[in-house]
Amino acid sequence: MTTPDQDRWLRVKERLRAEVGEDIFQSWFARMDLERVDGAAACLSVPTRFLKSWIQSHYTDRVLACWQSEHDEIQKIDVTVRSAVIRTAPPKVKQPDVIDSGRDPRIARTDNGDMRAVYAPISTGHDALGGSPLDMRLTFDSFVIGRSNTLAHAAAKQVAVAHRGEPVMFNPLYIHAGVGLGKTHLLQSVTWTGNRGAERKVLYLTAEKFMYGFVSALRNQTALAFKEALRGIDVLVIDDLQFLQGKSTQAEFCHTLNALIDAGRQVVIAADRPPTDLESLDDRMRSRLAGGLVVEMGPLGEDLRLEILKTRVAAARQYHPGFDVPAPVLAYIAKSVTHNGRDLEGAVNRLLAHNKLTGQPVTMEMAEREVRDLIRPQEPKRVKIEDIQRVVARQYNVSRADLLSSRRTANVVRPRQVAMYLAKTLTLRSLPEIGRRFGGRDHTTVLHAVRKIEGLVGNDTMLADEIEVLKRQLQE
Ligand code: ADP
Ligand code: MG
Repeated sequence: MTTPDQDRWLRVKERLRAEVGEDIFQSWFARMDLERVDGAAACLSVPTRFLKSWIQSHYTDRVLACWQSEHDEIQKIDVTVRSAVIRTAPPKVKQPDVIDSGRDPRIARTDNGDMRAVYAPISTGHDALGGSPLDMRLTFDSFVIGRSNTLAHAAAKQVAVAHRGEPVMFNPLYIHAGVGLGKTHLLQSVTWTGNRGAERKVLYLTAEKFMYGFVSALRNQTALAFKEALRGIDVLVIDDLQFLQGKSTQAEFCHTLNALIDAGRQVVIAADRPPTDLESLDDRMRSRLAGGLVVEMGPLGEDLRLEILKTRVAAARQYHPGFDVPAPVLAYIAKSVTHNGRDLEGAVNRLLAHNKLTGQPVTMEMAEREVRDLIRPQEPKRVKIEDIQRVVARQYNVSRADLLSSRRTANVVRPRQVAMYLAKTLTLRSLPEIGRRFGGRDHTTVLHAVRKIEGLVGNDTMLADEIEVLKRQLQE
């Protein structure tokens, strides 16, 4: 059934699609739904917290503008995370540090008729510390080690089992990777393991929670207590640092970090990009972050995906002994759901839900149907500015230093412009950031370069081909 608001929403979506292009639309908006229009507020929902934060920090104005073109009474956009769950109240756990080996997934039907296995939230003693909630399944036991995460895992483990007072080996430990590659899993594993003996206090906070804690402490004039509490812990674990926003929270974070590190306390951080690419932080902060151990986790290889699937199925079987996924089906999912760990989890949940609700065994045919929409085209690879500079320098036979230098001879100017153009089109970096990474140039210089190359590729087919080749090299 369609309502006028839903009709408007469809048109808003079309506007968005036209404005941001198909790729970006598919990445961020395809799964966004209109919940309702509430006076001047359009209430939208997305399936994950990540999407929510991303849309809020990058696209609120744009979404609002598209709404206003359709319906000028809308003044505000609210984005919430859709929960498909018939929520059960979190059980009160008296003993704070009991660690369960898993949770009993229940099956729920979402508003749009999807079936999913859902997990009841479980409160832990960790909440009492003011930390972000932990997921009991995200432990070292369930973390599968593969080529792409060996180093990150080893470093995290080391941090987790260290004792109070022991010298800290690397500080901070900074782990970065794209979405769904296991950052949160690893950080929560550190938190669980680290808190086990109750010898040390390990606090897990998302950057959002850190901001929220700080802002509300300021409001209640308890900022001092907040700072003291933070400084009283042994290991501070911060997830999704890229979402840390606002000058005063950043300054506060910076102080906290410095105070902890100087006091020999461990800091562990995860983000979706390396410290050098955290544009909104100042230089000193970036170098402090880069001064410990920085580890990247790469994409999950097929072997690793298969192992993760097996682990997930085994965990589900603890509660649903009748649930079985034949080996060829696992192999098929590992091969075709390449996106990230979250989709693997989603795939297993769907098979389980289907199996429980219909009583039918999991077959290849059923799997193909259930996971079809998880088989998305590969998200474009994360391209780094250094890679662009390296590849362009090689192609045009100049040095990377030439690209960053102030030389203005023709043989350097064009490659530099091409490199800046590629940086703008292949990464999410802003013009000022790109300028900074190209020898401290002004953002107007970058903009000029981008426009120049855009203008040229229309007529100069040789240049257009060169750029295609460069793009392909960078994205493979
Ligand atoms: P990120 O925080 O990097 O976006 P998550 O840690 O939330 O990613 O991982 C997404 C999903 O993939 C989770 O269900 C997680 O358990 C699973 N996952 C990712 N990497 C691994 C791994 N190496 N072993 C087991 N599960 C993994
Ligand atoms: Mg995460």
